[in-house]
Amino acid sequence: MKLTELQATLKELDASPTKSLGQNFLHDRNLATWIVSQLDLKPGERWLEIGPGLGSLTSVAQEFSTNGLLIEKDDRLISFLKDRYPKLQVVHGDACRFDTRELLPGGPIKVFGNLPYYVSSQILFNFTTEASPATALLFTLQKELAERFAANPNCKDYGSPTVLIGRRWKVELLRSLPGSVFLPVPKVESSVVLLTPRPAGEFPDCDGARFSTLVKLGFSQRRKQLGKLIAPALPQWAEAAASLGLPVTSRAESLTVRQWCELAAWKPEQSQNSSENAAQDVHRKIFDVVDSDDRVTGQNSRFEVHRQNLCHRAVHIFVRNKAGEMFLQKRSRWKDVCPQRWDSSAAGHVNAGRDYEETALRELEEELGVRVPVREVTKITPCHETGHEFVMLYEAQHEGPFRLPPAEIELGEWFTPTQIQQWAARRPEDFAPGFLKCWEIWRRICS
Ligand code: SAM
Repeated sequence: MKLTELQATLKELDASPTKSLGQNFLHDRNLATWIVSQLDLKPGERWLEIGPGLGSLTSVAQEFSTNGLLIEKDDRLISFLKDRYPKLQVVHGDACRFDTRELLPGGPIKVFGNLPYYVSSQILFNFTTEASPATALLFTLQKELAERFAANPNCKDYGSPTVLIGRRWKVELLRSLPGSVFLPVPKVESSVVLLTPRPAGEFPDCDGARFSTLVKLGFSQRRKQLGKLIAPALPQWAEAAASLGLPVTSRAESLTVRQWCELAAWKPEQSQNSSENAAQDVHRKIFDVVDSDDRVTGQNSRFEVHRQNLCHRAVHIFVRNKAGEMFLQKRSRWKDVCPQRWDSSAAGHVNAGRDYEETALRELEEELGVRVPVREVTKITPCHETGHEFVMLYEAQHEGPFRLPPAEIELGEWFTPTQIQQWAARRPEDFAPGFLKCWEIWRRICS
C-alpha cells in the first residue's frame, strides 16, 4: 500500500493511528512483498497474520493463498478488513490471549506480522508454545528485541528469552527496516526475524518444564555463578558440570542452548543407569496372553504378542483438571509404535501377573511423575484400533505440572474436550488409534 493510499484509507475510516495499539502502518509495497515472500507461501497453504492493520502485508499474502486468518485488536478496523478480504477469516481479538490450541485442528500453519511493539514478546511466546503447529513465524520486531532472540552466548543480549525460544526454534535475523517506511515513523528501528522449528534430535531431548525452570533460575541474576542460582532445582550442579565438561564457575550466559538442554536432561549417574536399564527392559517385557473373555491363557514376550496379534491387556488414563480440561501427551519420536502422535495422558501395557489398576497407578507415576487415585470408566474389548488389547480406561484428577520422561513423551498439553473433539474429527492422523477409540467411548459415557 502506498503512503497516499494509506492516508486515504485512514481518512475514509475517520481514524488515525493509535499509539497505544502500537500502530505504525507499512507503506512500502516492495518491502511488503519482500517480507511475505520470505514465507514461501504456496497456493492453498494456511497462514495467519497478527495485527493486519490496513492490510499492507495481507494483500500480498492473499495473492499466494486465500487460506488465511487475521487477528486484529482494533475494533475500528474489523469491518474494513472483512469487506476488503471477504475470502479470509477475520478474528477480532487480542493476539496475546489467542488460544493457539485452536489452530491444531487445521494442521500446519505459517504465522507472520509486523507486530505492535508494546506486546511483541507476549505475542511471540504465545505463538511458540510447545504444541504450536506453526511451521514458520516471520515477525517484524523492535531491533533490540530481535537481536535478543537471535543472540549468541557471552554477550549482553543473550538471556533467558534467547534460550527459551532457542531450544525449539532456529532464529534468523533477516534484515533491518528503516523507520521511514512506516506511518507514523516509529522512534525505534525494526528488524525482521524468521523462526523455524528445529529438526527433531538437533538438541538432546529434555523435559520442557524442567528446562524452563533451570533457565529462568540461571538467568535470574546474570552476574552470579550458575551453581547457586539453580541449586533449588539441581542441587548436584558440581557433579552435573563435571560430567558435562562445564566449568563449575559457569554463568548462565556462557552456556549454549545445547548445553542448557544437556543440563536439563542430565541425571545423577545412578538414575541414568536405571533409565538405560528400563529402556532395555521394554524389549524383554512379558505380557499375559488372554482369551476373548479376558482370561489368562498363557504368557509371551512383547515382541511376539505384537507380531502374532495375540490378545493382551493395557490401560489408558485420562487426567483432567478442575477446569475440565484433559491432559494429552505427544509420544516421543523414539517410540516404536505411533511415534509423534498425540495420546492419552498416560497409557501402558499390563505386565504378566499384574492387574489393571496397579498398572494405571504405575503408568501415572512413570509417565507423569504423579501419584493419584484412579477411577474406572470402562473396559474396551480388543479391536484393530486398540492393537488387540483389552483396554481398561481410567480417569484421574490432577492440576499438573507433570514430570515427563523425554525418551517417552515429547511434550504434553491441556485441552478442552471441545478442542480435542474438533481436532480429532479434522485430523485423526495426529492421534494414536488407541487414544481415538478410548476418546470415542469416553465421550459416549462421560460427556
Ligand atoms: N500489519 C500492519 C502493517 O504492517 O501496516 C499493521 C502493523 S502495526 C505495527 C500493528 C498492528 O497490530 C495494528 O494493526 C494494531 O491495531 C494491531 N494490534 C495491536 N495490538 C494487538 C493485539 N494485542 N492483538 C492483535 N493485534 C494487535
